[in-house]
Amino acid sequence: VECAKISHYAIEKHKVVITVSAVAGVTAELIEIIDLAKNQKPRLVKVRLNDLEAQHMTILKGILGSHSYVNQIWQKEILPRFDNLRTILHGASLVGDITPKTEAKICSFGEKIACIFMRYALRDLNVRAQIVKAEKIIRTDSRYLEANLYLRNSFSACKKVLKPLLGRGIIPIIPGFVAKDTHGDNTLLGRGGSDFTAAIVAMAVKAAKIEIWTDVNGIMSADPRIVPDAFSWQELDLGIMSEMAYSGVKIVHPRSIELAIQKDIPVYVFNTFNRVFRGTKVDNSKTSGVKGIVSTSGNVLFNLKNPNMLDEIGFIADVTDIVQKEQISIDVCATSETSFSFSIKDANGSEKLLKALSDTCEVTMLRNVAKVCIIGNDITHDPSLFSTIFKIFAEQNIQIYTLSVSASRNNITFMIDDNDCKQTVNALHGKLISQKGE
Ligand code: ASP
Ligand code: MG
Repeated sequence: VECAKISHYAIEKHKVVITVSAVAGVTAELIEIIDLAKNQKPRLVKVRLNDLEAQHMTILKGILGSHSYVNQIWQKEILPRFDNLRTILHGASLVGDITPKTEAKICSFGEKIACIFMRYALRDLNVRAQIVKAEKIIRTDSRYLEANLYLRNSFSACKKVLKPLLGRGIIPIIPGFVAKDTHGDNTLLGRGGSDFTAAIVAMAVKAAKIEIWTDVNGIMSADPRIVPDAFSWQELDLGIMSEMAYSGVKIVHPRSIELAIQKDIPVYVFNTFNRVFRGTKVDNSKTSGVKGIVSTSGNVLFNLKNPNMLDEIGFIADVTDIVQKEQISIDVCATSETSFSFSIKDANGSEKLLKALSDTCEVTMLRNVAKVCIIGNDITHDPSLFSTIFKIFAEQNIQIYTLSVSASRNNITFMIDDNDCKQTVNALHGKLISQKGE
């Protein structure tokens, strides 16, 4: 209902295309149910599907209130979809096998139902809206769960289908995340892919802007749960937003809006639950100064020493080879002549990796490590910034395990103890970021 109101407000001023994401948590739940089916748990699958169904019924009632036709709509438009889902998942849970093709079909369900909800919520506001099947306009290859977009095909299909609707004053509602391959099967654009759908459509119809309505106050200078003084940026460039995202801020996946921003379509990130917040505008400009202190905890740091490393060729290659064999990705790393440190993002597989590495060199492993990233354009070229940063670490008496300065000039990363993280991030935020947000 809230989303429909937001759309309604926009519709009064502009021509609008709405892209809908699944109800919060639904895609994740579907993925968990798929896993239960793969593990041959038909009973649990049934229970979880019933819960999901009840959750959707509650939402429909919330939208339509006490209208007598709630049941009619449920029977006609929603229940058959749940029945279909139940049949597929029950069968799959008996054999314990689901192909990616079927997984894509199952996961597309969340967005498709959310579109129906949106249509009814808009109808209540007297908005003329029509659901446009994503299969009609978003085309991809057959990598079912993270498909590659066929850009030209999708653009021309978008134009062909959407323009006549917009011309007639009808608001198209499109399920995000969902697409179709050349065989006519459902594919998905990857987790968080609804933003990508919005960006594709925006480019095709040459939109003036994209609005992404999330549940947080746009892009902030730090995580407000850690830094009470954190604030939202009114404007931020895509490069910095991307660096923040890769460092651990999960708001908008940069890949999904990159193309649109390169085409000079600005993206605004709003908060559905705080309409007073005026949004963060993400565009192609280049900001200066430190824009974010981003931290993650629970990293694991490996310190490797090899006395023979001096002038030796190939030690690091040997190490990365071992890490690769464990299917783990190295996050931050630093080297000296006889030592090599690197971190991984969580403890999964760390014990096994430690064992594998011990055969090659002296190795110690440190758990509960925080990664603190200071992010801003060209900050690595500012010597006085380094002096300020180190002063802060000295004042706070924080031990630095390792540090890394990015070649892209926009990130200085410190690895410290998890217990020191909050204090450090607050101190850095207080001294390095000036209040220019809202
Ligand atoms: N519902 C999908 C997901 O959770 C797509 C999206 O939300 O953008 O990944
Ligand atoms: Mg979503």
